Amino acid sequence: MIGWRLGLIKIKNGKYLNSKESKTMKKIMNLMMVVVLLNVVAFAEKEHHHDHKIIPGPLGGKVLESEPLHAEFFVQADKKVKIVFYDEALKAVLPTTQEVKVIAETKSGKTVLEFEKSGEGFISKTILPEGNGYRVVIQIKNDRASKPQNFRLDYRAEICGGCKKAEYACTCDHH
Ligand SMILES: [Zn+2]
Repeated sequence: MIGWRLGLIKIKNGKYLNSKESKTMKKIMNLMMVVVLLNVVAFAEKEHHHDHKIIPGPLGGKVLESEPLHAEFFVQADKKVKIVFYDEALKAVLPTTQEVKVIAETKSGKTVLEFEKSGEGFISKTILPEGNGYRVVIQIKNDRASKPQNFRLDYRAEICGGCKKAEYACTCDHH
C-alpha cells in the first residue's frame, strides 16, 4: 500500500509537479508515512496488551513482561528485592548487560533501591522501606544505553487466600 502510493507520486513528480509542489508533496508523503507507522505501532500495542493469564513467577514473585526478556520481581524474607530475567520458556537467563532500579513510593517519600548482580539475577543492595500497600516502580534497561522500561505495582505483602502468594504477586483471575 505504501509502496503503491509512493510509486504514484513518483509518476506525478516527473510529469505534473514543479519542484516546489514536489517538495510539498514529499512533505505530505512523509507525514502520511508517519501516520501509517503510528497506527501500526498503536495496533501492535493494543494486540500486546489484550487480556491474558497472569504468568506465575517461578520464585513466587510478580512476572514483569519486559522485552526481550521477562523479569520477575520477588521480595525476599529479608525484604531485599530479587530480580531474575527469563526467556520465553521461563528459564532463568544469567544477568549480562541489564540494569535494574526500584523506586518505592511511600507516604514519607521515594526510596531508590540500587541493584548488583548476584547468582542467577540481581539483588537490591538495600531493603524495601517499612510499610505495606505502597507503589513500587521497577525500571529495567537491557543495557546502559537502552530506553528504560517501567513497571508499576502495589507492594502488598499479605498472603492471598486464593493463590497463596503475596498479594503483589497474586495470580488469581479477579485481578
Ligand atoms: Zn491470589
